[in-house]
Amino acid sequence: MVYDAAIIGTGPAGLSAAINLKLHNKSILWLGAKNLSTKVEKSEKIANYPGMGYITGGDLIEKFRAHAEEMELEITEQMVTAIMPGGDFYMLSAGSDVYMAKTILFATGVAAVKGFDGEEELLGRGVSYCATCDGFLYKGKNIAVFCGDERFEHEIDYLAELADKVYVSSGYVGGKYGRKGALQNGEITSEKIEILPKPIKKVTGEPKVSGVVLTDDTEVSVDGLFCLRNAIAPATLLKGLELDGAHIIVNRAMETNLAGVYAAGDCTGRPYQIAKSVGEGNVAAHTMVEYLAD
Ligand SMILES: Cc1cc2nc3c(=O)[nH]c(=O)nc-3n(C[C@H](O)[C@H](O)[C@H](O)COP(=O)(O)OP(=O)(O)OC[C@H]3O[C@@H](n4cnc5c(N)ncnc54)[C@H](O)[C@@H]3O)c2cc1C
Repeated sequence: MVYDAAIIGTGPAGLSAAINLKLHNKSILWLGAKNLSTKVEKSEKIANYPGMGYITGGDLIEKFRAHAEEMELEITEQMVTAIMPGGDFYMLSAGSDVYMAKTILFATGVAAVKGFDGEEELLGRGVSYCATCDGFLYKGKNIAVFCGDERFEHEIDYLAELADKVYVSSGYVGGKYGRKGALQNGEITSEKIEILPKPIKKVTGEPKVSGVVLTDDTEVSVDGLFCLRNAIAPATLLKGLELDGAHIIVNRAMETNLAGVYAAGDCTGRPYQIAKSVGEGNVAAHTMVEYLAD
């Protein structure tokens, strides 16, 4: 099936676009996270979203979720790891699945994390963003994993079933493999999984990954590095997309430089605000409907 629209991101921008595309009877693939947006969820008190008065992020998420359910909008909880042009449509890789869509909306939020030195150069040559797609390549090998969120821990468990040794560096506290998490507290033991003593700063190797360098300059020899993050830089996802720093360049209709590709929300620039994201998601959806009609 070729979807009318693939929306990448379940935050306010993605939700607003999904609602408006659904109202126009478009077939939608909506990819992101079941909690919709960690950023909104973590907002203690929101005072500037019209109609809500003072509201906690958690309560606003509940309202967003109820609206999505009422509109029968389904979330496919997968990270998009690559987008490729396929003629009249785009192909999206997510997990081990490949989807097709006539239009794409980036509603990915702003990527807070900068990649490691060497990451972009070694992407596809030992650096991977997807455990289910590439894990089998590392059967019996040593790998490093950067895990940016507790929700990706099951991917570490999966990789540990295949690899000989999995060195983990995490970007959060708690969980099984996070800082001060269960593994470090001795609550679980795993022969294969080891938490790295310092954060990763660099991935090295030529032509393929041969190691990761930690912030204390020690090198750990590995055959691959998996980066499991909440966001992947837009230009890494889709080659040729024009950026201004970390932001996707759009016009007032939310069109990017690529035909059929749109962006809305924090990923297009400041101010990083819910109302702006919702407004841009709305505009993008209307532009996408016009494009699909043509
Ligand atoms: C602590 C805090 C307090 C805040 N307080 C306020 C406030 O009071 N008022 C206000 O207006 N704003 C506030 N904000 C800002 C607001 O949360 C953001 O502007 C808003 O969430 C941006 O919405 P978005 O849809 O652009 O992106 P996000 O909400 O960041 O959502 C992006 C979504 O895309 C998903 N995603 C990213 N990459 C991929 C991929 N490759 N594949 C699949 N899914 C992907 C993510 O998982 C996420 O679900 C606050 C933010 C924080 C962190």
